[in-house]
Amino acid sequence: MDVAELTAKLIAYPSVTPNGDVLTQFITPLLNEWEFRCTRIERGGVENLWAEVGDPTKPVLVFNGHCDVVPPGDLSQWTTPPFEPTRVGDLLYGRGASDMKGPLAALILAVRAIQLSGDELPFSLALAITADEEGPAKDGTGAILDWSEREGKQILGALVGEPTSVSHCGDTVKVGRRGSITARITVHGKQGHVAYPHLGINAVHESIAALSQISELKWDDGDDLFPATSLQIANLNAGTGATNVIPGTLSCDINVRHTPATSPEVIKAQIESCLRSVKVPFDVEWIDGANAFRTDESSLSRCLLEVVEKVTGVAPKSDGGGGTSDARFFAARGIPVAEFGPLNATIHQIDECVSIADLMTCQKVYEEFVRAMARSLT
Ligand SMILES: [Zn+2]
Repeated sequence: MDVAELTAKLIAYPSVTPNGDVLTQFITPLLNEWEFRCTRIERGGVENLWAEVGDPTKPVLVFNGHCDVVPPGDLSQWTTPPFEPTRVGDLLYGRGASDMKGPLAALILAVRAIQLSGDELPFSLALAITADEEGPAKDGTGAILDWSEREGKQILGALVGEPTSVSHCGDTVKVGRRGSITARITVHGKQGHVAYPHLGINAVHESIAALSQISELKWDDGDDLFPATSLQIANLNAGTGATNVIPGTLSCDINVRHTPATSPEVIKAQIESCLRSVKVPFDVEWIDGANAFRTDESSLSRCLLEVVEKVTGVAPKSDGGGGTSDARFFAARGIPVAEFGPLNATIHQIDECVSIADLMTCQKVYEEFVRAMARSLT
């Protein structure tokens, strides 16, 4: 089975997050047949899989990926149905083609190729596959790593196969990610009739100066790896819809994407300092989305960068931009982690597609990465 065939088989399962049918009904039986040691890790109704090959007494190198996809959106806008994989020349169309059933297929086949080669490695190899990356990501890769800790697995590093490439396959490797933190603010005024302002307290008027100040906050300029820390007011609601009612409450959600140079504590302190100018009661609920991290100095990242350059002939850019990913769960445990995969130009879009040639390149990179890691350890 080649990477195009395997990707097409995966796309045919409509595994909109957190549906894990493709894991239980297809991937696990296939990997069992290939004599991978499969363990189903279910938590909070989410399916996850650990599938290992090689000497179980050795530390383990992990390939991480997700089999869930974002919803297809308006089906009438798709040129071909999103869960009917369709090949046009070098391109394979379908939801998840690039994010990330294609690279997941490449990861699986790279491990299979290593297994069939019979090569002695100084580590075992494991696929850690989750059905909860595109959703809340609470019971996915984190659950797999909790399980691996209980099992006493010593994970020496991880490669996540997210689509990291921008213009051509191999141009970008992720060696860090920004963190994400959200504030949910509620300001409590008093509803009233607009003709009787002295009887009400306008929650918008009371908040507007503080929100304006918050929207201007700056923390850092970023660096070679990360774009600057940035803040966005994502939701702002007040008022009843009527034009003769003073709004009694205002709710506002603020999200900050931050570099490792700016801590969540500093962000919280500055936003709360701005809010102190609000003279009426308010609540702030903080939701920690993800920790920022960078792994550009790790030997694992350097190894991946070298391999990508060797296979593709292009020196990749080290990058930490974009959204969050499951790499953060490894980083939070001090496990070296880097990410590499095909183009992300069409991910989460109508008519998502992936280049088969790029998937073959990814499979080659994943395989060579294992060999390069083995050489670096012996
Ligand atoms: Zn993804």
